[in-house]
Amino acid sequence: MSFSSLALNQCLTDAVKKLGYETPTPIQLQAIPAILAGKDVMAGAQTGTGKTAAFALPILQQLLSHRLMLGPIRALVLTPTRELAQQVYKSFLRYAENTPLKVAVAYGGVSINQQITTIAAGITILIATPGRLLDLIAKGSVDISQLQTLVFDEADRMLDMGFKDEIDRILLQAPKKRQTLLFSATFDAAIFKLSKHLLDDPVLIEVSERNTAASQVEQVVYIVDSDRKRELTSFLIGSKNWHQVLIFTRTKQTADELAKEMCKDGIQSQSIHSDKSQGARERILAEFKQGKTRALVATDVAARGIDIIDLKYVINYELPYVAEDYIHRIGRTGRAGNTGLAISLMSPKEEWLLEAVEKVLDSVLLQQWFPGYEPDLTKHYQAAKRPSKGKQKQHARKKALGIKTTKKSK
Ligand code: AMP
Repeated sequence: MSFSSLALNQCLTDAVKKLGYETPTPIQLQAIPAILAGKDVMAGAQTGTGKTAAFALPILQQLLSHRLMLGPIRALVLTPTRELAQQVYKSFLRYAENTPLKVAVAYGGVSINQQITTIAAGITILIATPGRLLDLIAKGSVDISQLQTLVFDEADRMLDMGFKDEIDRILLQAPKKRQTLLFSATFDAAIFKLSKHLLDDPVLIEVSERNTAASQVEQVVYIVDSDRKRELTSFLIGSKNWHQVLIFTRTKQTADELAKEMCKDGIQSQSIHSDKSQGARERILAEFKQGKTRALVATDVAARGIDIIDLKYVINYELPYVAEDYIHRIGRTGRAGNTGLAISLMSPKEEWLLEAVEKVLDSVLLQQWFPGYEPDLTKHYQAAKRPSKGKQKQHARKKALGIKTTKKSK
């Protein structure tokens, strides 16, 4: 099936052709007709499946066919992070290239004035993060009362990031009669609860099994002591001559430290997380995309919007505390049909985190040792056997008092 069979305007099919899209992806094949039919949609789509075009193309098509070229704002896309907002905005610009439709993006961390000026000039489509959108509404710069379509992109992450209150406040400003589209990489009880509140008789679309990782991504788990993880990371990148490796840590501090240490190992690395300014994040990301930086060490939130088509390698330096984040992380590679490799470095103490990931994936990941980096299991065995600090103190006190420690009789 081709794009031309999806009843899209020629200027949209020309734009996707120019981008090199030959056939619609499964999510596009299912979502585009449903959205064009005016239905609410709840779509479970992994990152890299082409989900942006799955909602952007029919939104553009509807605006073109109803001749809604100039303001007020008719379509609003909410994203959890600035990076994703930018990425969705760029996609809209590309798809709308041959149309008179005006698109704007608004997110925090940068001056609001430029955004106000752009919006005041008249736009039909707005991509925004929830906090900045509410600021703009409060200032009277954005009016969403004439919305036709409201999109929640990466809705699961929005809930994870605690945007539920912001979402409720935004909904108060939006018309009740509207089309709502909810995209989420993972589905859990919270998402279903949100969908009940937001969607009206939605078409449910799932392009792959629920909560499954991108299928073209090979997943490998190496058991390695935490104090040797950095060494193994640098060794893997260096010995295998990998360029453009995205590495995940759980904290900003670890991201900073790891990037610094890897530079000392001779691997040009940078870290990206929410403590860095928007400008710095953009520059770091651009340098990584251009191949100036070999390894980018990121926290989960910062990595959300990273879209690099041919990114081949993802390393989970630490497994995530939120198991669903594993899917988002490895979804950064294997995008748009490319293959990828996702390596998780798991210390013996982190096994419970892997178990949580396996539950979400509904499959077991093979654990291996990397030659030369085998974990010192005797250390862990002894640690497990060692009595707790409290027990040790109690024992020492009793010894000092000359009390004999005897095992409790049954
Ligand atoms: P997304 O899931 O929207 O982040 O898209 C992932 C990547 O796939 C983006 O870089 C898109 O440009 C690309 N893409 C989207 N749709 C298609 C398609 N039909 N054919 C080839 N690439 C696509």
